[in-house]
Amino acid sequence: MRHVLAPFPGVDELAAPSRLRTAPRPFALGQPITGPAKRVAALRALGVETRGDLIDELPFRFEDLTAQQTIAEAILSGEDEVTVIGRIGSITERPTRRRGLRILQTRLSDDTGELALTWFNQRHLARTLEPGTRLVARGALKVGARGAELTVRSHEVLDDPDGVQVGPGLIPVYHASSQISTGVLRGLVAEALTDLIDGVPDPVPVDLRLRHRLPLRRDALKAGHQPRTRNAFQSARRRLAYEELLLLQLALLRHRREADDRAGAIALGSPGELSTAYRAALPFELTGAQARALESIERDLDSDQPMQRLLEGDVGSGKTAVAFAALVRAVEAGGQGALMAPTEVLALQHLRGAERLLEPLGIEIAYLSGDVPEKERRARRARIAAGQPLIAIGTHALLHTEFPDLRVLVVDEQHRFGVAQRAKLAKSDGPVPHVLHMTATPIPRSLALTAFGDLDLSVIDELPPGRKEIKTSVVPEAKREDGYRWIVEQVHAGRQAYVVCALVEENPEVEARAAEEEAARLATGPLKDLHVACAHGQMPAADRQRVMADFAAGKIDVLVATTVIEVGVDVPNASVMVVEDADRFGLAQLHQLRGRVGRGQEQSYCLLYSSAEPTPEGRTRLDALVKHTSGFALAEIDLEMRGEGRLLGEAQSGRTDLRYARLHSDRRLLDRARDDAARLLREGGDAILEQAADERFGELIAALRRA
Ligand code: ADP
Ligand code: MG
Repeated sequence: MRHVLAPFPGVDELAAPSRLRTAPRPFALGQPITGPAKRVAALRALGVETRGDLIDELPFRFEDLTAQQTIAEAILSGEDEVTVIGRIGSITERPTRRRGLRILQTRLSDDTGELALTWFNQRHLARTLEPGTRLVARGALKVGARGAELTVRSHEVLDDPDGVQVGPGLIPVYHASSQISTGVLRGLVAEALTDLIDGVPDPVPVDLRLRHRLPLRRDALKAGHQPRTRNAFQSARRRLAYEELLLLQLALLRHRREADDRAGAIALGSPGELSTAYRAALPFELTGAQARALESIERDLDSDQPMQRLLEGDVGSGKTAVAFAALVRAVEAGGQGALMAPTEVLALQHLRGAERLLEPLGIEIAYLSGDVPEKERRARRARIAAGQPLIAIGTHALLHTEFPDLRVLVVDEQHRFGVAQRAKLAKSDGPVPHVLHMTATPIPRSLALTAFGDLDLSVIDELPPGRKEIKTSVVPEAKREDGYRWIVEQVHAGRQAYVVCALVEENPEVEARAAEEEAARLATGPLKDLHVACAHGQMPAADRQRVMADFAAGKIDVLVATTVIEVGVDVPNASVMVVEDADRFGLAQLHQLRGRVGRGQEQSYCLLYSSAEPTPEGRTRLDALVKHTSGFALAEIDLEMRGEGRLLGEAQSGRTDLRYARLHSDRRLLDRARDDAARLLREGGDAILEQAADERFGELIAALRRA
């Protein structure tokens, strides 16, 4: 994580520079970089093509010279954490007792005194730091019999021969590389600022600037690089973040409007008798949140503008009942509906639900997935191709099916599908279907508005009544056997348990083998009197489904599995979830796994087995899971810990390629930008802003258009 290195909590987390540039910069200052070819190449490798790029990227942290003391002051101060400036002597290197660890040492001196400087594992410094170099060093000071010794946490070279001489105050630190030092970068940025800053245009119209009391872009950039105080940096970054979010929201909302204008859907009118019958047949009352989501969907379906709605709801929040209601509307209107799930397990489960809830209403269901025999599949495809009113349920197999009259499409766990795949089903010459995207990965609202800002959003933030909170605990290795004894007790009390095996990075085969071995170990060891079975993604689909079905039917006590059970499995009698090496899983994934239990009336438990020494991040994740049960709370923590880029995975990460905004801390700024963008478009748009939005987010919009 980037900001672990930063010496000043609070300052570094502000800028989130991204070196992955795909789109041209807004109103980019296109002056090419000149100078030695090696330097130009080094800058290009950092994503810097023009001098404008140099100033578009804010420092990722600052070295605070205002906190500095003379060496004598530092030694006398008795403080543990000090900042001193001085010149270094020659550097010596020696190994430590711990294997592989190297220590670098030198002396640092100023007019008042001298101390020993120590770095751990920074061997390259021996090559880059010349004796006599002036630097600022910050770290832990120990004063002992052998004198004063400073273990360096961070340092900056103050007089790089090619860099700028830095004065007092906050010294910007940029992401450098082995080819170009931060000192040289600092010099180039300072030069570019001096030369270019007066010509920096500002796309944000003056009325918005006044309303939100924002400085000019020009002044924000200057203060972002050379702030006098940390507060000055804060305001500068916020100004740039606001602009960035405004441009992004403009781009997304404009794309949405164009898409709406391009393609029409069939308005489904208001709900009729079949819908009433469906509601009456549900074995429960909808929760308030479900009802609200359904209301919004009804409103969407009543229009000939195609619905593009994201339905977000925690695991077990009851998205299926809402989705079925939308699908019923398609059939009720004499058309077709389709529900696409990412895995066979999940598709099958939807099929079971549909057989229970929809078939009794006389609705035809057509199940399509890879494991349906070819002949049967062809027959079902023929029914669909004939335009028969029905609801198709399946996996990717649905993508190869032609729907002559598709009115409503539900895509479950939409983040698992590429944008293009989604589009394939939805695209046809005639009217397009209304589309409901569902996800059980609670995405913070800010992230949803950014990554899926072209979709409308419904959130089911309430669980059906009567759910007991799942009790979660972290089980250290020493208590492992106690955990097993306790599982045996639970099973004797009539419950069932899952054991999810450790994640094997990108190797499903090894992972599957590990699960089989673990199942065998448990079945012959600690759980030998119980019926233990194994399920993983490498098994033939039919075998896996049989195991899952046996587990659902209560014929298996303990299901040892890889993460194939992550998505959607619903076995209400399972009340214990054990996760091996839990500290290595992501927060969202752990939350998903935990959501497999707690679906029935019994008290449920989640046991997080943790390795002896989890990383600090792993530890934080486990603690968060013990403390929070709401997926939305956990998602906010995840956003705070990991930043926005990685939350969405590969497919969508480019969509939040934000340079200044931090979605966790900038939530209010984002809402403001969203409102402003919507109002601007309602009031006829703003040519300059829209041009800037095209420049900055053109690639994103192009990707959305292809979809
Ligand atoms: P998810 O949002 O994870 O897809 P499901 O739709 O699978 O959740 O619902 C989880 C469980 O809750 C199911 O067993 C479902 O029948 C039940 N359920 C859904 N809505 C309600 C409700 N309003 N009241 C009671 N139980 C409900
Ligand atoms: Mg579901």
